Amino acid sequence: MRLNKYIAQAGLASRRKADELTANGNVKINGLVVKEMGYDVQEGDVVEVNGRRIDKIEKKSVYVMLNKPLGFITSSADEKGRPTVQDLVADVDARLFPVGRLDYNTTGLLIMTNDGDTAYRITHPKHHVYKTYRARVAGVLSAAKVARLEKGVDIGGFVTAPAHVKVLKQGERSAIVEIQIYEGKNRQVRKMFAAVGNKVQELDRVAIGELYLGRLMIGHYRKLTPKEIEYLK
Ligand code: URA
Repeated sequence: MRLNKYIAQAGLASRRKADELTANGNVKINGLVVKEMGYDVQEGDVVEVNGRRIDKIEKKSVYVMLNKPLGFITSSADEKGRPTVQDLVADVDARLFPVGRLDYNTTGLLIMTNDGDTAYRITHPKHHVYKTYRARVAGVLSAAKVARLEKGVDIGGFVTAPAHVKVLKQGERSAIVEIQIYEGKNRQVRKMFAAVGNKVQELDRVAIGELYLGRLMIGHYRKLTPKEIEYLK
């Protein structure tokens, strides 16, 4: 990585300022002053700026929220060669990983970051951070089914924790439902509705705790605000 970008990513200076610092002899690499602005930082190089060592610990953390479209997977590589969510944040100056997963056919809010520690609080069920989904399900979702979903249903050897369920609209052939859960078992929402006999036709995550997708357009991402980042930690 080019030296000025490396220094900028650590949050120590803008790229232009980093060039200035380099030209002025304030930057050392592996103990020697380097004034070459185009220097290509290699893995293992120890870079110091004004005597302050930059290494992985000082790497600037980046947090974004993405509105995941249909047809993207949330792991970093796919043996079938399908597009991944990493492709959608490719122009961010950091290697970002998704916090938790959404199915290939699920849309909506996905947090991506290069800060591995942060992921823990919002994903671990012990913290009871509710994720809110809007689902279109086939058929009628009766009050009795809502009550079962809220209490907990067996999704194949696992009984789900209490959920909040609201029918937003009941049509003739399908219903629009909001469901909030704090666990994250594989395909959990789909399996919960299947357990009461309603197939999920569309699934969109609209919130994780107090982080809301809002009007973010599908396929787009934005950086989290400092307040949102604080909430994540
Ligand atoms: N539950 C599901 O079934 N799928 C998702 O993508 C997320 C939650």
